[in-house]
Amino acid sequence: MKRILIVGGGTAGWMTAALFGKLFQGLYDIELVESEAIGTVGVGEATIPAIKKYNELVQLDEVEFMKRTQGTFKLGVQFVDWLRPGHSYIHGFGVIGQDWEWLRCHQYWLRANQRGRAKDFADYSINTAAALANKFMHPRADMAESPIGHIAHAFQFDASLYAKYLRGLAEQHGVKRTEGKVVDVQQHKNGDIASVTLEGDRKVEADFFIDCSGFRGLLIEQTLKTGYEDWTHWLPCDRAMAVPCTRVAPLTPYTRATARDAGWQWRIPLQHRTGNGHVYSSKYIDDDEAEKILLANLDGKQLADPNKLRFVTGKRRKMWNRNCVAIGLSAGFLEPIESTSIHLIQAAAIRLVRLFPDSADQATIDEFNRQSDFEWERVRDFIILHYWANRRDGEFWEYCRNMELPETLRHKIDVWCANGRIFRENEELFSEESWIEVFLGQGVIPRGYDPLVAIKSDAQIEQFLGNVAATIGRCIDVMPPHDEYVSKYCPAEELA
Ligand SMILES: Cc1cc2nc3c(=O)[nH]c(=O)nc-3n(C[C@H](O)[C@H](O)[C@H](O)COP(=O)(O)OP(=O)(O)OC[C@H]3O[C@@H](n4cnc5c(N)ncnc54)[C@H](O)[C@@H]3O)c2cc1C
Repeated sequence: MKRILIVGGGTAGWMTAALFGKLFQGLYDIELVESEAIGTVGVGEATIPAIKKYNELVQLDEVEFMKRTQGTFKLGVQFVDWLRPGHSYIHGFGVIGQDWEWLRCHQYWLRANQRGRAKDFADYSINTAAALANKFMHPRADMAESPIGHIAHAFQFDASLYAKYLRGLAEQHGVKRTEGKVVDVQQHKNGDIASVTLEGDRKVEADFFIDCSGFRGLLIEQTLKTGYEDWTHWLPCDRAMAVPCTRVAPLTPYTRATARDAGWQWRIPLQHRTGNGHVYSSKYIDDDEAEKILLANLDGKQLADPNKLRFVTGKRRKMWNRNCVAIGLSAGFLEPIESTSIHLIQAAAIRLVRLFPDSADQATIDEFNRQSDFEWERVRDFIILHYWANRRDGEFWEYCRNMELPETLRHKIDVWCANGRIFRENEELFSEESWIEVFLGQGVIPRGYDPLVAIKSDAQIEQFLGNVAATIGRCIDVMPPHDEYVSKYCPAEELA
C-alpha cells in the first residue's frame, strides 16, 4: 500500500485529505483529483459539537478557522412549527440541568409536569437558554461545578471557504492536488480499481481509492456497482434549494429549521450572510411552489439564484467495497435537519484511519461496513423521530405521522414512552440528552417516570428544579451577546 487517490475535492475530499495528510505523516503518497468544471455541491454549513474532535486531530486553530470561513457558533437547532404551527423548541447541545443522586434531571421534571407544576423544559439547559437569549461564550474549564463549565458548541461556516481552508491544510501536509475530470476508470482482473483516466488522457494509478465524488458515486457506484439502500419511505424529502441572503441582526448562535407544508426550511447565520434552504418532497409540492416558499421566507435581501439539488435519502449497501471507500455524499445522504453529514464524513475518515489496511483483508472491510451501517441507521432513526412526532395538518405530515417505523426506533420510542428512559447504544452518535430534548420538544411525553423519583417529595423536587433553573438564569446574565463574542474572538477576514 503506497499510493492513495482521493477522487473529489468537496468538503468530503478535503476533510479526508487534511486528516490523512496529518496522521499518515508521509507514509503514503496521497493525491486528490478534483474538477473545477464540475464544482462542489456548495451546501453544508452547520455542524455538531463532535467536529471539535476532527479539529483537534488536524490541529486546526479555531480562531483562524472561524475567521477564514466567516464562522459563527452554534449551540443547537431551533425547530419552529414542527409539532404544530406556532410551537417551537430548541434541541440544545450538551447537558440538561444536573443529575440528582441516581436520576437524570428530566425525570424530576416529568413528575413536576404530571403535577402541572413544571416550568418550560428550555430553562434547564444552559445551551438552550443561552441560544434563546442570543448569548455565547466558550465553556470555562475552571468552572466545572457551574453550567458555564458545560456549554457545548459547534460551528456554522461557509461551505466553500471551509473546503478551501482544508485544502490549504492538506497541501501543507504534503497532499498533492491534481486538477482534472475523471473520464474513465480501469479495474484489475479481480475487479479492484487500478487507475483513473483524466480528460487529456492522463492516467493516475493508486493502490487504494477514496470516492469523494459526491452524489454520482463515480467509483463506488458507477464503477463498482455497489448498490444503494433507499430510505425515502421513512424520509420522503428528495429535493432541496439553497439561497444566501444578507445577514440580519442579531447573529443567532443556532441553526433554525422551520417546518413547511411538504418539508422544512433552514436558516444558518454566518458573519457575512445568512444561508437558507428549503428541503421538500417532490411528491407533495412542485419546484416552483417550493422556490416561492423559500424566497418568501428570507429575512434579508436575496444574494444569488437558488441552487437546486436532488437526492435519494439512504446509503450505499457497502461503504467500503474492494479497494475503495466512499466518504461524503457518495456514501449516502441523510437530510440536514440535525447537521449530520459533515460529521458522517469525519467519522468515516477517522474510522478508515483506525482500520487502514496494509493489504486486502475482508474482515477489516466487514468491520468498517458494520460500524458504518450502525452509525448511519441510528442517525437515520433520530431524524425520522422529528418527522413522525408531528401534529401538523397536510398530506405530507399525515404520511410521516402514520408511517411504519424502523424496529430500532420503535423500540426506543416504546421504552421512552413507558418511563422516560433512553439508553445510548454503543457508539451511536446522539446522546441521551439529544433524544430527551427532541422527544419532549416534539411533544412525546412519557406515560410515567422512573419510580425512584418517588423517594423525593414534591416540595424537594420543586426546590431542586427551581435551583437548577435559577443557576442557569444567573449564568445567562453574565454571558456576552453572540455578536459581540464573535466580533472580538474571530472577526472574519474581508472577502476578496
Ligand atoms: C441540501 C443540503 C444541505 C446540507 N446541509 C448540511 C449541513 O448543514 N450540515 C452538514 O453537515 N452537511 C450538510 N449537507 C451535506 C454536505 O453538503 C455534504 O456532506 C458535503 O458538502 C460533502 O459533499 P461531498 O464532498 O461529498 O460532495 P461534493 O461537494 O459534490 O464534491 C464532489 C467533488 O467531486 C468532484 N468530482 C465529481 N465528479 C468528478 C469527476 N468526474 N472528475 C473529477 N472530479 C469529480 C467535484 O469536482 C467535487 O470536487 C447538506 C447537503 C445538502 C444536499
